[in-house]
Amino acid sequence: MTSTYPPRLASERPVSAWAITATMVSLLGALVALVLAIIGVFGSLPAAGLLVIATLGQLAWYRLGPAASRVLLWPALGLLGLCLVSYLLPEHWLPHVSWDQLANQIVTGSLLVDWRPPLLLTLCLIALLLSLVVRTRANLGAPMLLGVAGLLLLAQAVEALHTPSLLPLRGTWLAQVILLTLLLGQIVDVAGAWKQQSYRLSRALWPGLGLALLSLLFWHYQKTLEERNLAARVEQQHVQMAESLSREIDDHLAAMRRFANVWRLTPMIPGATAWATQAAPYQRDFRYFLNIAYIDTNSRIQLVHPPTDINLQVLGSRLFDDQPAGREAVASALQRGREGRTDIIELLQGGPGMIHYLPIFLASESRPTGAVAMAVSLPALADTLFANIDPEDQQLSLYRDRDRLAHQPAEARLGPWQLEAELDLSGIPLVLLSQPTLRRLLSDLPRQPVVSLTVGLLLAQLLYLVLFSQQQMANQHRAVRRSNRELRREIRKRTRLQEEVEWLAGHDELTGLPNRRTFLQALREHDPREPISVLLCDIDYFKKVNDHLGHLEGDRYLKEIGQLGNEVIASDDGLFARLGGEEFIAYLPGRDEQEAIRIAEDLREAVAASGLAHADGAPLTVSIGVATGTPGPLRIDDLMNAADEALYSAKHAGRNRARLARSLAAPGSEELPEQR
Ligand code: GH3
Ligand code: MG
Ligand code: MG
Repeated sequence: MTSTYPPRLASERPVSAWAITATMVSLLGALVALVLAIIGVFGSLPAAGLLVIATLGQLAWYRLGPAASRVLLWPALGLLGLCLVSYLLPEHWLPHVSWDQLANQIVTGSLLVDWRPPLLLTLCLIALLLSLVVRTRANLGAPMLLGVAGLLLLAQAVEALHTPSLLPLRGTWLAQVILLTLLLGQIVDVAGAWKQQSYRLSRALWPGLGLALLSLLFWHYQKTLEERNLAARVEQQHVQMAESLSREIDDHLAAMRRFANVWRLTPMIPGATAWATQAAPYQRDFRYFLNIAYIDTNSRIQLVHPPTDINLQVLGSRLFDDQPAGREAVASALQRGREGRTDIIELLQGGPGMIHYLPIFLASESRPTGAVAMAVSLPALADTLFANIDPEDQQLSLYRDRDRLAHQPAEARLGPWQLEAELDLSGIPLVLLSQPTLRRLLSDLPRQPVVSLTVGLLLAQLLYLVLFSQQQMANQHRAVRRSNRELRREIRKRTRLQEEVEWLAGHDELTGLPNRRTFLQALREHDPREPISVLLCDIDYFKKVNDHLGHLEGDRYLKEIGQLGNEVIASDDGLFARLGGEEFIAYLPGRDEQEAIRIAEDLREAVAASGLAHADGAPLTVSIGVATGTPGPLRIDDLMNAADEALYSAKHAGRNRARLARSLAAPGSEELPEQR
């Protein structure tokens, strides 16, 4: 079997060779994109895979026909539809985390964002694949789909100029080139077909594309606004969190002060057992108090809780001497009776922290009898503070200047935004850094811009379809009106023809007189109760008129005599007909012999006096045979024969006269013959 190129599909136009070439180029590009994605150099694998399927589908459509192509197209459209749905569905209908779980089930550890092709790429591919399905059919919106694909491609190029968005919006430049060649392939394929159409595509296409462009612009505005709003919301939440953490820190410090005040109720310097009994619940409830120690007025550490090895090491040491960093704080508590604290220091137990010194006033004493020293571990404090914050939502770090004091890593992929807020730790300014996770941002990002874009594009498509069908309908109406007009004209023409034919069937064309047929019809319809007369009339020597004056003049004479005869006979209520040649006949219903012969004489005289003359000047004359039938059934043959004989006799007698036929025989009962 030989194959023809370009291939022709059943009931379809041949596919342009350029279209096939362009599609092959895009397939090549898609394969390159796939390889690059597989080796992890460039682009995402699902997007590249979809591009390969789409380009293969288009090529299959052109080379093998729609049936083969559908095997690829519909699954691809299904996947793209699913992606679009994931962009559209509101969080409370189907939370982001469910999509992530679905992705995780397909490939462990993967998220929705790893699978979903960028928004504009998805929409562009959907438009291209749908336009392939409807191919040349402008009434199904093929031109609009191609136009929208073009706009979406343009939007992707423009998006490259903007700051990156939270949502992936555009394909890689390679993907954009592939989409462009796919689009060009389709345009080359169908443009020819549309050029030949009678309808004006532009009337439906431009308004549709205008609406699509407006939807894109509106979407861009909305999504920028929504992202800005989201950023502001996240920022505000972060500041609120920092404020609440500051408040919590204050609560913890208040707890510490309560511990110091406990001793106001006792008259004695705390003993080891009492100290341990009081300190134990504090230490249990607030794990960041690494130790709670009693120091005497001499700054010597007398008691410490909990009695861990490290804590016990410090027993007996004199803080004025051993801890220069805390000397000022200790002095404040012991000498001035005011709370003091170290700066953030490296604690003995490891990790950054600070030690608070709170004076102990025994009951009724105004001078401190010692102080409580409480070592607060900042990482442990941060752990307590961060305990209520979901690591799925954000990553948190606590900084003082450049030193990271505490860190809670996120348990999900991080988003692009980093937020900063100040914390106050009993006068020491700290910085709380947070980085929200991508999932948290995406689930908080309103879907409304994507919904309005999708709805806008659908409406644009609908607008096109409505305008197009309206235009088509108008065209059809015009065609129907045109054909109606033609039909009416045709009907008029045929009616005229019919009337002419009917007239011709009963009349003589030359003179316009009724013909033999009409005459015989009149005879047949004659009322048998009345008499009837006929005058058979023949022009004398008419041949000579023709011979000397010519046939045209002969015709004119025939017409004149016809007119004259008609006037005479019609005035006597008769019918004057041309029997044939230069013979005429008059039908005179209700006229007897006398009346008939009188009328015949009138006619003869009228002709003789008409002024019609032979070439030699002799007036034109007629001979007339008159036959009359009495009332009763009429025998036309007899009547005609009698008139004929009378005419013959008139001719024989010298012409220019009327002769009465012999009386007809008594009427018989035979049927009337149709013709003479
Ligand atoms: P007669 O007195 O014996 O009747 O002599 P005639 O010359 O009239 O002889 P006849 O009736 O035999 O001839 C009729 C002629 O009429 C013959 C033909 O040339 C002529 N004729 C018949 N029909 C027409 C016609 O329609 N137009 C013209 N111009 N001549 C016709
Ligand atoms: Mg004749
Ligand atoms: Mg004649």
